[in-house]
Amino acid sequence: MTLELENLHKKFGEHTAVKGINLSVKEGQMFGMLGSNGAGKTTTFRMILGLLDPTSGSAAWNGARIDYSRTHLIGYLPEERGLYPKLTVKDQLIYLMKLNKMKKPDIIVELRKWLERFQIESYENKKVEELSKGNQQKIQFMAAVLHKPELLILDEPFSGLDPVNSDMLKKAVLDLQKQGTTIVFSSHQMRNVEELCDDLIMLKHGEALLQGNLKDIKRSYGMKSVKIKAD
Ligand code: ATP
Repeated sequence: MTLELENLHKKFGEHTAVKGINLSVKEGQMFGMLGSNGAGKTTTFRMILGLLDPTSGSAAWNGARIDYSRTHLIGYLPEERGLYPKLTVKDQLIYLMKLNKMKKPDIIVELRKWLERFQIESYENKKVEELSKGNQQKIQFMAAVLHKPELLILDEPFSGLDPVNSDMLKKAVLDLQKQGTTIVFSSHQMRNVEELCDDLIMLKHGEALLQGNLKDIKRSYGMKSVKIKAD
């Protein structure tokens, strides 16, 4: 199973947000997408997820476009987040996971496992709006992973988190990769990509500025750390 992007383009009116991205992410790989504001990361993710039609080119998971019949195979943490503030954590996740074809007893087992892991066991029956932003982000992450997706797309998963919560989420992401999940995440920060990924793409104005294996890139640029500004 691979994620394949072929010459992917997206135009919004006269503005081209994504300009010919080619990418191949193998099963079980953790792939980083770097870029500053407006680089085209979210637009690329939305095309992968079938939420946005490419102007040209294609995005395929395991040889086929992702559509509504396959969304349960995918986990998505959107940058704009999207929880229902008035629902309890439990009702929120039961609702979302039923859409992902999970049965309620399985949802409860996974929900408690993750709440314990994130050290927020006592929040099961709290309304989402009562939680701190960091804890809401953990719930949003759970909404992306509870159904054990094959492919996990995380849009800026670590933004706005303090170092403790950020590390907690990074460990969770690494464990999911060890279990075989294919993961693509975006970030503004090279540090996050260096910590987690072997391979990366760096976007600027919708184009790949740099792409490939991190060690190879460092070697060819003679760097200890990649310090290339995307702007
Ligand atoms: P950020 O880090 O700020 O989220 P990004 O890399 O995710 O940035 P995108 O959100 O993909 O960038 O935006 C890429 C470009 O496409 C931007 O110039 C943005 O204004 C434009 N764009 C995105 N969505 C739309 C839309 N629905 N209609 C018009 N323009 C859009």
